[in-house]
Amino acid sequence: MVFVEKGPEKFDVVVVGGGPAGMMAAIQAADSGAKTLLIEKNRSLGKKLLLTGKGRCNLTCAVYDNKEFIEKIGKNGKFLFEALKNFGPLKTINFFEKRGLKLKEERGKRIFPVSDEASAVLDLLVKTLKEKRVSFKLGEKLADFKTKDGKIEYVEMASGEKVFGENFILATGGKSYPVTGSTGDGYAWAEKMGHNIEHLFPSLSPIQTEEDWVKVAEGTSLKNVKLKIFQDEKKSAEYFGEMLFTHSGVSGPIVLLASQEMGPVLAAGKKVRLEIDLKPAVEFNELDLRLQKDFKLKAHTDFKNYLPDLAPKSLADLIMFLSGLSARKKLFEITREERRSLVKILKGLKLNVKDLTGYSLAVVTRGGVDLKEIDPKTMRSRKVKNLFFAGEILDLDGPTGGYNLQICWSTGFLAGKSAGSVYNLE
Ligand SMILES: Cc1cc2nc3c(=O)[nH]c(=O)nc-3n(C[C@H](O)[C@H](O)[C@H](O)COP(=O)(O)OP(=O)(O)OC[C@H]3O[C@@H](n4cnc5c(N)ncnc54)[C@H](O)[C@@H]3O)c2cc1C
Repeated sequence: MVFVEKGPEKFDVVVVGGGPAGMMAAIQAADSGAKTLLIEKNRSLGKKLLLTGKGRCNLTCAVYDNKEFIEKIGKNGKFLFEALKNFGPLKTINFFEKRGLKLKEERGKRIFPVSDEASAVLDLLVKTLKEKRVSFKLGEKLADFKTKDGKIEYVEMASGEKVFGENFILATGGKSYPVTGSTGDGYAWAEKMGHNIEHLFPSLSPIQTEEDWVKVAEGTSLKNVKLKIFQDEKKSAEYFGEMLFTHSGVSGPIVLLASQEMGPVLAAGKKVRLEIDLKPAVEFNELDLRLQKDFKLKAHTDFKNYLPDLAPKSLADLIMFLSGLSARKKLFEITREERRSLVKILKGLKLNVKDLTGYSLAVVTRGGVDLKEIDPKTMRSRKVKNLFFAGEILDLDGPTGGYNLQICWSTGFLAGKSAGSVYNLE
């Protein structure tokens, strides 16, 4: 009898990172006929995906014009042109609906599962991975990439085990919400293999302010307000919508959007100031006139009792503190100067930005693997022949509203299809 020593198993495609981008890539690689392995250091897949959309998963957006989508992404958006052409929001919606997940569109073109459960999105992906016979290594951390002659020869697990493959897809995500497993491991490997990493910043993050009086208003949410951003005293942007006060600053939808550009600006040493217009529907003088009229009509009312007419009740103490007006002051006793400084507060509550809250609470990471070094038609590295990238590890990030997950589906699709259909690259 002849004994043949069995060598290590070899895969056509090895995908590292079991988030949305890695799962989509593995499905597409296997769908192209490739023997595929998915490596994830958590014991289960898609830990961050379960947190998305406050547990409801805003999985894409009803933006079917690729130009419109690209504009929303900003200066790096053009890189996505091919990926969106191959697998944009419409094809993503079809992908999920065809497999039985009912979807709905909400305000702002945001698409959610009808069940409002992110777990339904994850279950579908896991079921599809199994149907496509993708192999898994769960609860096992990848430690290193070993290259030879400009190609990856194998990857090494933290246990020391070697995993061999023809093609490799790196989809380890960014650095935000590290508790979910996204600890930025992939950047170091990409850098070691010759890739440039564009400066990393937390994005879509709460903002910390220098003023600690925000504590007084912690938990107060503001609707229909205007948020103006000033960089070195020059207005740079404005947003309209909802926000809220936290114990150390501000957060909420328009604050997260405003934070997108802030990382690089703060790093460059610029001073960033916020101004909240609590009454955007009326001009300064119009509001002043309204107060004059009210102060006459309700002359003997205490200032404190009048305040709920002007702003959310929970802001009353804060407004009294900032205006220096006492609770018991009668409206007829308020001087012209005091009234006008009250209007100033209502039309432009000023806050100086100390910093972004950081990766622990940022929705995404700005920066990442330099797009110039990746072929946008295949997601293949221009530095390492058998390496492909997908998802947040790339220097791509979008606003809230389903754009970030769509980047994962689109780049994951293309990386998986390309890596799964081209072997033995020269
Ligand atoms: C709270 C929150 C809410 C969000 N809501 C939305 C939303 O509603 N809509 C939207 O479009 N976007 C949303 N996002 C953004 C979205 O979740 C991310 O853009 C997306 O998850 C990125 O996917 P990814 O596959 O690139 O990376 P990730 O989801 O970060 O997955 C990467 C995976 O790689 C694994 N990994 C890392 N290192 C290793 C290693 N050494 N070995 C093995 N495995 C490793 C990690 O454990 C992780 O599971 C939200 C983000 C957060 C934090």
